[in-house]
Amino acid sequence: MTTPAFPKGTILGYPRIGRRRELKKAVEAFWAGSIDEAELERRAAELRAATRERLAGLGRGDSAIPESFSYYDQVLDAALAVGAVPERFEAPADGEIDLATAFRIARGEGEVAPLEMTKWFDSNYHYLVPEIGPETSFRVACRRIVREFVEARDAGFLTRPVIVGPVTFLLLAKAADGTPEGFTPLDRLADLVPVYAELLAELAAAGAEWVQLDEPALVSESIDIDRARTLQAIGAAYDALGAAEDRPAIFVAAPYASLGDALPALAATPVEAIGLDLVRGTLPEGLDPATEAALAAKTLVAGVIDGHNIWRGDLAAAFAQLDAVGRLTGEVAVSTSTSLLHVPHDVDDETELDERLRSWLAFADQKVAQVATLARGLVEGEAAVAAELAAATASLADRAAAPGVRVPEVRERIAALTPADAARIDYAARVAAQASLGLPELPTTTIGSFPQTADIRRARARLLRGELDEAGYTALMREEIERVIRLQEELGLDVLVHGEPERNDMVQYFAEQLDGFAVTQHGWVQSYGSRCTRPSILWGDVSRPEPMTVAWSGFAQSLTDKPVKGMLTGPVTILAWSFVRDDQPLADTAKQVALALRDEVADLQAAGIRVIQVDEPALRELLPLKRADQPAYLDWSVDAFRLATAGAGPDTQVHTHLCYSEFGQVIDAIRALDADVTSIEAARSRMEVVDDISASGFDHGIGPGVYDIHSPRVPSVEEVRGLLERAAGGVPRERLWVNPDCGLKTRGYEETVASLEHIVEAARQVRAGL
Ligand code: GLN
Ligand code: ZN
Repeated sequence: MTTPAFPKGTILGYPRIGRRRELKKAVEAFWAGSIDEAELERRAAELRAATRERLAGLGRGDSAIPESFSYYDQVLDAALAVGAVPERFEAPADGEIDLATAFRIARGEGEVAPLEMTKWFDSNYHYLVPEIGPETSFRVACRRIVREFVEARDAGFLTRPVIVGPVTFLLLAKAADGTPEGFTPLDRLADLVPVYAELLAELAAAGAEWVQLDEPALVSESIDIDRARTLQAIGAAYDALGAAEDRPAIFVAAPYASLGDALPALAATPVEAIGLDLVRGTLPEGLDPATEAALAAKTLVAGVIDGHNIWRGDLAAAFAQLDAVGRLTGEVAVSTSTSLLHVPHDVDDETELDERLRSWLAFADQKVAQVATLARGLVEGEAAVAAELAAATASLADRAAAPGVRVPEVRERIAALTPADAARIDYAARVAAQASLGLPELPTTTIGSFPQTADIRRARARLLRGELDEAGYTALMREEIERVIRLQEELGLDVLVHGEPERNDMVQYFAEQLDGFAVTQHGWVQSYGSRCTRPSILWGDVSRPEPMTVAWSGFAQSLTDKPVKGMLTGPVTILAWSFVRDDQPLADTAKQVALALRDEVADLQAAGIRVIQVDEPALRELLPLKRADQPAYLDWSVDAFRLATAGAGPDTQVHTHLCYSEFGQVIDAIRALDADVTSIEAARSRMEVVDDISASGFDHGIGPGVYDIHSPRVPSVEEVRGLLERAAGGVPRERLWVNPDCGLKTRGYEETVASLEHIVEAARQVRAGL
C-alpha cells in the first residue's frame, strides 16, 4: 500500500467531557433513568460534532483530528471492542455489546462487582482494569470506533480513530481470578492481535487512512515486569498488524515518557508513524544504525506541546526540538506530548481569572492553536511564525518577573529548615501517649467526607451567586456537621469526622485559602467515568495567610466527647491534583505547601483536635515512570509529608489515607511517612494488599478498606466480617482499623448508612470473637 501523508500537526486526544461537562450530565441522566439510550447517543454525537468543529483548524481532510471520544474510559472501550468481558457481566456471545452492559462493567450492579479501577500512568485519570484469563474469548464485539469514524466522515471530516494498542491493553490488564499460576495476560497476545487486525480492516473499509494505537505502557518501567517479553510482544503485535493488506496506516503513540529500548523494537516493525513524548521524555540518543535507518523511513510525531499542564510554555524551544527530530527523519509532524484529556477546554472561558495570569496559560484549545502554529512553521519556515514564538517568550519573561511568583519570606523559611523539623519521636512512645484517646480494639472510622447532598451543593452555589451570605452559609454547614456527628454517634463509630460538607473539593478547598494559587470557573478535567475535578493553578510561592480548617473541626469536636479527626490534604496530593508551576523543581514547591500545612496542624492541635488525618491519595500517582527517577521523588515526597506532620505532639494521632491497594514500589515510602495510622483501599481487591503489608514489615496502624465506595453496592455484615477476618490474618489486631476504602462524598445517604451499620456490626462481632 502507499502510505498517505501524516498531517503536519495533530493532537493525541481531546477532552471528551464537554466544555460545560455535557457528557457527564448526559451519562448521569441516563444512569438515573431520566433519558434513554437514544437521547444519550444523540447528546454524545452532538458533543463529538462540536469537538470536530473546534478542531477543524488542524485540518478536515487529512486525519489530523483524533477520534478520541469515550463514554466512560478508553481502556474499557478497547475491552469492549475486542469482546474481553468477564463472564459475570453476561455480555451477549455475539452481536454488539450495548451501552447498558458497558456501564454495568464500569460500575457494577447488585452483587456483580465492576472492573477494578486504577490510575493511568502518572496522571489523575483512572482506567478500568481488564480481566484476562486463558479462557477469555476475543471477537470484535463493539464497533463504536468504526461508527464514530463514519459519523465524522459523513459530516465532512476524515478523522483518525484512536484505540488503546494490544500490548498496552494486555499489560494494563490483570489476570482474571482463578487463572493458573504463572499466567499473564500477555500470554494471550497472539489471540488478541487478529481481532485488532479485523477492526483495522473494518476501519480501512470505511475509509480511514490513519489509525492511532496508544501504547503508553511501553514507556513505563512500573507496569511491565518482564521487559524482554514486552519488547518481543511489540515486535509480534506490530509485525502482524503491519502485515495485513487492508488496513489504515498505523501511528503508534507512546506518551508520558521516553520509549527507551521500545523504540528500536517498534522501529523494526512496519508501523508508519511513531509518537515521541518530548516533554516528559527526551530525544532518542545513541540509536543503532538499523534503528536509525528504520526511523528515517517513518513519520516521527514529535510531542512537543505539553498535554499535561496548562502553561503557555516556551514555543520557541518546542520549535527547536522539531529541528532535532528532523535530523532523524524527513517526515516530522508536531503534536501534543499526551492526549489533552488532562487539561481543561479553553482559557477564554476563565473570565474571572486575573488578566496577567491568564496570559501565561494554555488549555486544550490554546494548545491546539500552538500545534497549528508550529505545524505552519514546519511547512513555511520559522520566519512565518516568528511573531508567535516571540510572544510566547515575552509571556514567559513577564511571568518570571511578576509579584508573588517568588516571595522572599517563604524562601527564607525554607532555607532555615533542619532535618529535625521532619522527625517525630518514635512510634512506641507515641502509641503510649495516644492510649489516652481511649479507643477500643479494631477502632471504626471513616475517611472523612460524608455524602455531599444536593442541599449542600445548593448552599454553596447560592453562596457563590451571592444569594446567601457567609453567615447564612456557615450556619447551614454547621447544621450539616451536627447532623453528621449525631449520625456517627448513633452508628457507634469510634473516631468521628466532621464530614467535609464545606469542601467543594479536597484540593481546591485549600488552594482557595492559600497564597500562590488561583482557581478556575470551568477548568474541569475527567478523573474517571463521569467524575471530573477542577484542578487549581499553583502559580506562585505558597503560604497560609490564616487557619483553613480549624473553625469547622473545632466546632465538630465541641459537639461530642468522641475524638473528631481533623482533615487535611497532604502536600503531594495538593501538587498532584493542581496544575503546578513548571519554573522550579516540584520538590521545592512541595516544601512550601508542607510548611503551610504544618502551620495548620499546629493550630488544629492547639484547638483540641487529637487525631489529624493528612490525606495523601496521590502519593503513588506522581511516582515517576522511570525507575531511575523514583528514589529522588520518594525522598522529597516523604519529606514533605513529614515536614507537614512532624510538628504534631506525641499524643496527637496522625493518620494518612491512600486511595489504592497496590503498594509495590512505594511501600517503603509509606512506612517512611511514619503516620500512626494509614488507611488504604482494599475492598475491591478482597484484601490482597494485606499480605503485601505484612510481608513488608509495616508496623504502624493500618485500616484496609472494607467497603468499596466506588459503587452503590452495600456490603453485607458477613462480607465485611470476611474481609476483616482476612485482614486480621495478616495484621495484628491491635494495629488494625476498620474503615471504608475512601471518602463517602459521592455516595447517597441510604447506602452509606446501611454500609456503615454493617461495618460497625461486623467490627463488633469480630471484636467479640463471634
Ligand atoms: N478525606 C477525603 C474524603 O474523605 C479523602 C478523599 C480521597 O482520598 N480521595 O473525601
Ligand atoms: Zn481515598
